[in-house]
Amino acid sequence: MSARVLIVDDLFPNVKLLETKLALEYFDTVAAMNGPDAIAICEKGLCDIVLLDVMMPGMDGFEVCRYLKNNPVTAHLPVVMVTALDQPSDRLRGLDAGADDFLTKPVDDTALFSRVRSLVRLKALTDELRSRALASRDYGIGDPLALAAAENGLDAKVLLIEDRRGAAERMATALGQNHTVTVEADPQQAMLVAAEGGFDCVMVSLDLEGFDGLRLCSQLRSLDRTRNVPLIMLAEPQDQGRIVRGLDFGVHDYLMRPVDRNELLARVRTQIRRKRFSDVLRGAVQASMQLAVTDGLTGLHNRRYLDNHLGTLFCDAASRQRPLAALILDIDRFKTINDTYGHEAGDEVLRTFAERIRLHTRTVDIVARYGGEEVVIILPDAGLVEAQAIAERIRARVEATAFDILRASRSVPVTVSIGVAVRDADDASPADMLKRADLALYRAKHAGRNRVEAQAA
Ligand code: GH3
Ligand code: MG
Ligand code: MG
Repeated sequence: MSARVLIVDDLFPNVKLLETKLALEYFDTVAAMNGPDAIAICEKGLCDIVLLDVMMPGMDGFEVCRYLKNNPVTAHLPVVMVTALDQPSDRLRGLDAGADDFLTKPVDDTALFSRVRSLVRLKALTDELRSRALASRDYGIGDPLALAAAENGLDAKVLLIEDRRGAAERMATALGQNHTVTVEADPQQAMLVAAEGGFDCVMVSLDLEGFDGLRLCSQLRSLDRTRNVPLIMLAEPQDQGRIVRGLDFGVHDYLMRPVDRNELLARVRTQIRRKRFSDVLRGAVQASMQLAVTDGLTGLHNRRYLDNHLGTLFCDAASRQRPLAALILDIDRFKTINDTYGHEAGDEVLRTFAERIRLHTRTVDIVARYGGEEVVIILPDAGLVEAQAIAERIRARVEATAFDILRASRSVPVTVSIGVAVRDADDASPADMLKRADLALYRAKHAGRNRVEAQAA
């Protein structure tokens, strides 16, 4: 997977060196020689990942990183800090600023490519989500990116799969300050716990007694219920080969033993922020998809949803030779309610009307607001007799109790007329069936309203 890498360094030879290395692996590069230029490139969306020098005059790497991570427009960009000194305090400052990883100068090729590749892959996954979440802003559910960027990465549920007692206790105590930690020493048991537990982050020791921790990681990555949970490997310096393989199949990060307490806290926090970032985006996407097919006033599906799904249900019924029924419901003299009590009262009646309909329909039925005071119900597997019975039940339920309006200060009697039709083998499309239901409704209105009429036999 190729990507465009932004190289930020105030020294030209450093930029050149990284450019050459990355070009050999077919990465595209773009360069900036100071913080503000780097930020401008990121904000314009001109790169996929940032390699960021720490020591720069003016705005240093930490500041640039913090700025990028707190800015909703750029928070999703992976940032790798490139430090001259491998000082724990430097790493910590970088992680605090939200950096995703570190490389130490002189940059080792294997480390460079494996980090860039795995971060680019992760970003590709969130990019799709991000653009769909951005589209959801049109539905007025707030700015998911701002919400996601504001996530602090604390109060999470962490699973620690580690069978060395001492190490497990030390890490659990450190993490316990910010999170709820579960320690599991048995790898088989750990899989079950991970699948059930709803964790925000799972840490796996690569040196479990008699068990390959990497195998556990790959199982966690392939299981539906755990595949989105951030995974961190606990490794020994001689585990370099397994670390690279783990990162290759999607493990998110690793910690080298002996584990530095602050680095542990910072890396776990980064992963949790990233997961919650994706969760917020995913939630926004789902909410927007829901809103796009929902009628705002009644909460019923809208006509767009009906149009999209009726064809499928219709073909499905035809190929399985199963019945399919359609009801069209139209409130009687609804205009009078509006005229007498106002539009607001009319809206209240529509909402209550929808609630009563919902009580008499199943989840497999499509219930859609078709027009102003018209609702269409599609009943899979229902024949004419059954559909008429359901229609009659709804009609009776609407008539039986007057509708509260004007915040329950009054109530009005409401009735509904319903036309019923079923799929016919000769129907070219569902429109034919709806047409018959509409004709039946017309007859119900003419016969005096508050009635159910079925299509002519
Ligand atoms: P009929 O028994 O023949 O169906 O008479 P009706 O008054 O129900 O039918 P008509 O089609 O003449 O009037 C429907 C009214 O529904 C007119 C329109 O202003 C009103 N309406 C449509 N959408 C809404 C809405 O969202 N809220 C409210 N309050 N009224 C609506
Ligand atoms: Mg009406
Ligand atoms: Mg009408």
